Amino acid sequence: MEYALSECENRSRRVGNCPPQSLSECENKGIQVVTINPEMIAFAKKNSEFAQVLHSAELVIPDGVGIKLGMKLKGIDIEQVPGIEFSKKIIERCAQEGKKIGLLGAKEEVIQAAAANLKKEFPSLEITFQRNGYFQESEELEIIEKIKASGVKVLFVALGAPKQELFIAKYKENLQNMLLVGVGGSFDVWAGKVKRAPLIFRKCGCEWLYRVVTQPSRFKRIFPTLPLFLFEVIMEVRNKTNAQV
Ligand code: UDP
Repeated sequence: MEYALSECENRSRRVGNCPPQSLSECENKGIQVVTINPEMIAFAKKNSEFAQVLHSAELVIPDGVGIKLGMKLKGIDIEQVPGIEFSKKIIERCAQEGKKIGLLGAKEEVIQAAAANLKKEFPSLEITFQRNGYFQESEELEIIEKIKASGVKVLFVALGAPKQELFIAKYKENLQNMLLVGVGGSFDVWAGKVKRAPLIFRKCGCEWLYRVVTQPSRFKRIFPTLPLFLFEVIMEVRNKTNAQV
């Protein structure tokens, strides 16, 4: 978590304080943060546009336990960094440092409750842009202009994957010096509409099980994607080992 946060900070600083000679390289770019899970990787395999978005993201964070397990099978130990916790830490820092944030996504009543709860938790937080996630493509440019005018340093986009990643990638050139984080269903949790799994589930890497039981509509999204993803990683590692022998 600390590593992901400091990477974010370093990158924001690098873009924010770009030396004049390298301005052309970075003046026109927001920093896209993707919190990745096996469903997104499975979708990227079928959709080259989405694969390109993942490849060109400035920072990719291992959100789900599936990614942690997959990396472990490849012999690499990584810390799982749930996007929702990572985003909360960023919000806390923004409140401390007086940086404005924006919220884009979810239903109107959800975003209102989420914003109110965040303000309650961090009284000094400035949310200068707020918009629900149900809009037409023809409204997007107007939304982008409003985001730019709001002076936000960090924009959280909750349109669900892959919509939010595609949206951020489409507009990151317009949203200079901004951290752009796709947060999926986090606004629903911050609004108190959806409960996160109890700590015991999170600690043992079973948050996905809790979500499937409490939101059965998720079953189709996780199965067979998660076991298939792990199977593919096992096959990849096996093929590599066989090729080396
Ligand atoms: N959503 C939205 N606009 C859309 C589709 C979805 O704002 O056109 C919101 C939806 O209301 C929900 C979030 O996106 O708040 C998606 O949550 P989900 O838990 O499905 O996302 P995940 O974390 O699984 O990517």
